[in-house]
Formats: sequence, C-alpha cells, structure tokens
Amino acid sequence: MKLVILHSSDTHGFLMPTDYQNKDNYDAPISLSRVSSVVKSEKEKYGAENVLVTDSGDCLQGSPLASYTQKLPEDEGLRKFTEAYNEVGYDARALGNHDFNYGLDYLSYYVDNNRAPFINDNVLDAATNVPFFGKEYTIIEKAGLKIGIMGITTQYISHWESEEHIRGLKFVSGYDVLSKLAKKLRPQVDILCALYHGGFESDPLTGEATEPHTGENEGYKILTEIPEIDVFLTGHQHRRLNLVTRDTAIVQPGYRGEAVGKVVIDFDKDTNGKVKINNMTTELIDSKDYAPDPAIEKIVKNLDEETQKWLDQPIAHLSEPAPIEDAIKGRIEGALFINLIQQMQLWFTGADVSATAIMSESAHGFSKNVTMREVLLNYPYANQLCIVKLTGKELKEIIEYSAG
Ligand SMILES: [Zn+2]
Repeated sequence: MKLVILHSSDTHGFLMPTDYQNKDNYDAPISLSRVSSVVKSEKEKYGAENVLVTDSGDCLQGSPLASYTQKLPEDEGLRKFTEAYNEVGYDARALGNHDFNYGLDYLSYYVDNNRAPFINDNVLDAATNVPFFGKEYTIIEKAGLKIGIMGITTQYISHWESEEHIRGLKFVSGYDVLSKLAKKLRPQVDILCALYHGGFESDPLTGEATEPHTGENEGYKILTEIPEIDVFLTGHQHRRLNLVTRDTAIVQPGYRGEAVGKVVIDFDKDTNGKVKINNMTTELIDSKDYAPDPAIEKIVKNLDEETQKWLDQPIAHLSEPAPIEDAIKGRIEGALFINLIQQMQLWFTGADVSATAIMSESAHGFSKNVTMREVLLNYPYANQLCIVKLTGKELKEIIEYSAG
C-alpha cells in the first residue's frame, strides 16, 4: 500500500506562469497553476484518498500580482488570491516569514478564508504563550493511515519584520516546540510529518555547517535530534532538496512553484492494524512539464490583467536611463541604477552614507520612462528604508562583508 505526500512552498504569489518580465510571456516554468495541475494529476494516478497535500508558506508576497493584490480591498483582491490557493486542495499549511509583510489584518484574512487548516506551533500570542494562528496540529486519515502534522516557521521573523506587523506576537524556536509535541503525537499516529518554513543550517547528510548557526534555519538540529519525525517538509531557503536520511524523508521544492516535492511511503498493515514502513522515496516533480490549471487561471484572470495594466503605468521620467548591465558586476563596481537609488536614499533620509543592494539577478535598472514593472523587477521585496546609527568600526565591517 502507498501513501503519497505532495508539498509546495515559497510560491510567492506567482499564481500564473509568468515572471512579469515582459507582458506577453505566459510560458514561464513556474506558478501555482502548474503546481495545481501536478497535484490533480497525481491524485488521479494514486487516488485522491491516498494523497496528502501540504504547503509551507511564503504565498502572500513576492510577485507583481501579489503587490497589486495588496493594494485592493481584501474582499476584492485577497479573496480571489486565496480562492486560487484553495483550488489546489491543500490538506494542511504553514506560515512563511513573508506572509507577515503586509501586516496582521491581511494575514488573518488569508488564514481565516483558507479551506486548509494552518498548523502553527511557534508563532505565539506574547501575552498567553499559546499559538496565535491556526491549529497546534492536525491528524488526517489518508490511505488508511493516521498522519499527524505539526507546523513551524523560522523564528527569525522578528529580526526582519517591522514592529507594527508583529505586535503582540512572540516567535520561539521550532526545535524547542517540536521536540515536545513530537513525543506527544507519536503514539497517536502512524506517520508523523513536520511542516517547516525553514531549512538546513548544516548539510543533512554530512552535518557540515553550511551557514552561521543563528537559529534562522534549524532543520539539521530537528532532523538529528527529533527522530519521531518521518517526513520533513521544508522551505524558506528556495533550495531543491529531496532525500531520505536517518529514516526521514526530506523535500524542499525551490520557489515560485517551479517544483512539487513528492514523498511515497510504501507500507504494510498487519491484522492488528500495526503499520510497517517498507520503503520511503522522494522526488521533485518539475511543474514546467504540466499545463497550467484552467480552474486557477479563471479565478485570477481579472486580477492578472489589472496587474499588467498597473505594471505599465509610467511613474517617473529620468533625463537618462539608469541601467544595471550585470547584477554581479553592479555589486562589485556599482551601476548607474545603484547610484540613483543611493542618491534618493540620501535625499529622503538626510543620512551621511547610504547602503542598498541589487536584490535580483535579473535586475536591469531603470529606462528613461520608469514604470511600476521596472520598480518591482528590481526590488521585488516589501522592504523599508531605515535610518540607523553606526560606528566607524561597524561601517568598516559592513563594507568588508559586502566585498567578501
Ligand atoms: Zn520564500
């Protein structure tokens, strides 16, 4: 007998198969609409009753369509946007750090209107220490198995998010909460899954550190110190991962809906109902091989057309273009676009020095007539300009880090 788990993460509001670089290309190898087709096709293949579908967050922010949606009243934009996610048929979901970018009211509307439960164990109400959103866990029956699902997000959200967006919330270590919850749930279920909007601080196979251990990603610690978890459904780092190690199946499906993580659990049940796992396999299904789901395209058609119009609006005129010829070269040697951004930041803040970054590998800077499309393609994130007080030593460290 087989249980199939399908997992998406970090779709970042790319509902349609376009990256909005140009107006007419709807052949991009990404999108929730392609993810939805993968899910529907796998359900057909294995039988819907044997397929569990999950997502680990970063849905509300990242695409031009997501930016446009956020400008509309929630009952217009976000309602349609949420409907598209509902169409995929998720069984359980978790929150991502970027889902907090537009504030708690926006996020709450989304959580409340999702058909699938949000599983949240480490975003707490600071006053009561109980989970602020969603459910602590869920137990779902598929393929005749009881599947327990826990859900956490990166505890690092408080380092990035503006205070007003996370007021009254407390973010705690996912490892700390799961190590207790896993012990409690293990005896009640046949399969235990952890949904995590986070990734790996060390290589899952070798244990070699792959980044400073700040607590942003705790996947390796969870993998190695919580043996109760059978299936570890991760995200946040936008990596493509699929492997089985330490009797745990791990997937991470890239970003923007480029792939769906798939775990197949082959098992037997004896006459007493005791479950024995024979084998677990993992793969990433590339969504480019699947046509976009017309049901999703229908839901977001108007939203997408309005987004394209909004993107083409001219919002400023420059006396000459301010391009970036090459992102890496621009980072090292500077670029007219970066000079312009720095000058604007100095003008608005009155600061002594300015720092910024080229945030996208496909950033091209500004042409003479700047449109919203150009702004969002260069700066896809909902960042905020800040004035900070620095010592000369700190400034030197920043420059050295950047040069490194
Ligand atoms: Zn993400």
